[in-house]
Amino acid sequence: MMTEVERAGLAARYGTVRGAIPSNVTLVAVSKTRSVEEVQALYDLGHRAFGENYIQELCEKQGRLPADIEWHFIGHLQSNKVKQIAPFVHLIHGVDSSRLLDELEKRAASAGRILNVLLQVHIAQEDTKHGFSAEELLELFDTPWRWPHVRIRGLMGMATNTDDDAVVSLEFAVLAALFQRLRPVVGSPDFDTLSMGMSGDAALAITAGSTLVRIGTAIFGERPAKLS
Ligand SMILES: *Cc1c(COP(=O)(O)O)cnc(C)c1O
Repeated sequence: MMTEVERAGLAARYGTVRGAIPSNVTLVAVSKTRSVEEVQALYDLGHRAFGENYIQELCEKQGRLPADIEWHFIGHLQSNKVKQIAPFVHLIHGVDSSRLLDELEKRAASAGRILNVLLQVHIAQEDTKHGFSAEELLELFDTPWRWPHVRIRGLMGMATNTDDDAVVSLEFAVLAALFQRLRPVVGSPDFDTLSMGMSGDAALAITAGSTLVRIGTAIFGERPAKLS
């Protein structure tokens, strides 16, 4: 059970984060490893957009929490897990291969839905982060679109995990430029979302043109080390 002090702390941190983000930037509260009760507490403050990294955890929470929550899947998606989230997911952030697009198309069609997704772009120096290169993305849109049940809403990226703001800002600028360059290529008003920025680098991301930030720690507090 959350104590009154914990509830007040959550409300205060949420207010601070919300207040620092322009109203035209979407705030997704990253609730991975946090309890159903904590998500419900933030929901009770009026928040609706939540992000999760793990399929099992997402499905469990979705089943136990209000139906009008917009669930964002922000983790690395494996093809064999797509069918579990296809019926309800609001936006999938980390799509990083055409093989995954094939699976999304299949599962969206059988769920009778259009799935909204973001293509992940590799911008960081670490090679542990997934994503398309700029060349691969341009190639993807160079041929006729063959996934009618998949709607590309924009791009997502993660900057290098470093204290060097110049490095992070440069990576965000590269991603923002690619987003702007792709807009006329994609040619759809639905291509409107640039997901970049987390607790540590949201301000830099917003300056660079982010339209959606994914914030966990700054709202919920530090995650237990073994799960983060
Ligand atoms: C965990 C996570 C976040 C949130 O990170 P914080 O530093 O806690 O804000 C954002 N995006 C992705 C992809 C994540 O895995």
